[in-house]
Amino acid sequence: MPPHTGREFDLIDWIRTQQRPGPGVILPAGDDLAILQTTPGDLLLVGIDQVLDGIHFDSAVHSPRDIGKKAMNRNLSDCAAMACLPFAAVASFALRRGTTRDYAQELYAGMKDAADIYGCAIVGGDTGAWNQPLAISVAILGRSAGIEPVRRSGGQVGDAIYVTGPLGGSILGRHMSFAPRVNEARMLTGQYRINAMIDLSDGLSGDLAHLCRESGVGAVLDADAIPIHPDVQRLPASDSSPLQHALEDGEDYELCFTAEPGVVGCYSIGRLVAEPGIWVEKNGTRESLKPRGFRHEF
Ligand SMILES: [Mg+2]
Repeated sequence: MPPHTGREFDLIDWIRTQQRPGPGVILPAGDDLAILQTTPGDLLLVGIDQVLDGIHFDSAVHSPRDIGKKAMNRNLSDCAAMACLPFAAVASFALRRGTTRDYAQELYAGMKDAADIYGCAIVGGDTGAWNQPLAISVAILGRSAGIEPVRRSGGQVGDAIYVTGPLGGSILGRHMSFAPRVNEARMLTGQYRINAMIDLSDGLSGDLAHLCRESGVGAVLDADAIPIHPDVQRLPASDSSPLQHALEDGEDYELCFTAEPGVVGCYSIGRLVAEPGIWVEKNGTRESLKPRGFRHEF
């Protein structure tokens, strides 16, 4: 390991000034580890997610503020998927050698902008410099805060399948600027019995396949009910139909969940069935859908 440069230490000093003790945070970044206080009865949920230059963002196009925001928001979206409250996060930056202090501060500020909305403290991290493109990992802690976490595995045959918003075409910009559905997840779980849930990062067809596999069920989607985002109309012409974009484009970061029919305020797009597999139904005919994981490539 190369020794830390003075500049990296400066950055860490600056980061320390950006965080204070708060609810649940007894000691923020600055010591070897942060000290958190959990609430009795809470379950702690933990996950980690990575964003890479050239895959999840393009540092030649996107601002460091937006890149930092996305890195945090993907983790917040995972909290939404389990209906937990973001509690604390730690971040690791692999900066390209020669990265300016301003740039690194903007990355951090973007993460903080996103986390502050939910009172989620960034309680530690690590920076390094190398000759490769920017990579950021964020690990997050969530707490159940009175709501049983919603798993992918609870889907029941006969459940309706819902999504929280229109899908497709996120590559035009929404993949950087989405709002994680944390509050929506808490409201839904407070109001309805949500049996299974996932956030749509890889595309509806792929993520619904994960949910179905974990629940041991299949799904029939109603082609006419799937909400297609207006961005799809603005995409360059391709062989894919608007419906295919809604099914396969990644990074919508809406929630897909299943519950007894009757949920108000979300799009009901199909139902869970006993037979494993995913079908799209249109005008009474069913076509089998091959789940296709989607990745942006810049
Ligand atoms: Mg997820």
